[in-house]
Amino acid sequence: MNERTGKGTGKGTGTGKKSSAADNAAAWSDIVARSAHVMCDKGLTWGKDAGDSSVRDPETGLIYILPKPSERLPIPSWDVITAEHIAVVDIDGRIVGSNDLEPTVELLTHLRIYQNKPEVNAVVHSHGRWSRVYAALRQPIPALMIDSFLYTGAAPIRCTVFGEIGSDEVAMSAVECMGEHGKAALLAAHGAVCVGATMDQAMDVAEITEDMARIAIFSSMAGTPVPIGIDDFIDREKARKDLLDFYEI
Ligand SMILES: [Zn+2]
Repeated sequence: MNERTGKGTGKGTGTGKKSSAADNAAAWSDIVARSAHVMCDKGLTWGKDAGDSSVRDPETGLIYILPKPSERLPIPSWDVITAEHIAVVDIDGRIVGSNDLEPTVELLTHLRIYQNKPEVNAVVHSHGRWSRVYAALRQPIPALMIDSFLYTGAAPIRCTVFGEIGSDEVAMSAVECMGEHGKAALLAAHGAVCVGATMDQAMDVAEITEDMARIAIFSSMAGTPVPIGIDDFIDREKARKDLLDFYEI
């Protein structure tokens, strides 16, 4: 399986279809488990189960997602997660994983994004320290730096309505805030949600979102930052095309 494209290699294990499907599921689960460790390493979670991530297998449509900590599965921190801990659901949220583990309480946020954005195959919901400043303000993170546009677009990252964690209202608000081509949204008084065609892309967007928030905070302390937009690019059509190509739309 190719992590970037989500496509299979076509090389079977030679042990039959069932084994191949199990191998595929294990590979997707491993991507999600590793993403939990990356979130810890990059400061996108404060530890325990704050924030979560998921990927969609484009071939089966199944979603591999971090689990909900429970008595059966006590999780002191995301950095202890392994592939065996990953929950699997279908596009309607029904648990279909062989381990029968429950998904994170944020499942609906992930589902609404996958249901409304067919080009998205990975979601990172972060609790990063800088984006949470804007989530607390319930204000958009302005786009200030020209090098972030490939990841988050040349537009502010908008903030959702405030609501219960994991509610449909907040989930749909996040979809609306991203718009047609957006890759990130703030969750009011909570965190951020970032998307990509692959887990690597979604994680990049999450990191750039933190950088954008940090730059916006410090530049506004030092002076008056100047937002950028698509009109600031010399070749706007090329900029638009680069943006869409990057996202594989
Ligand atoms: Zn959260």
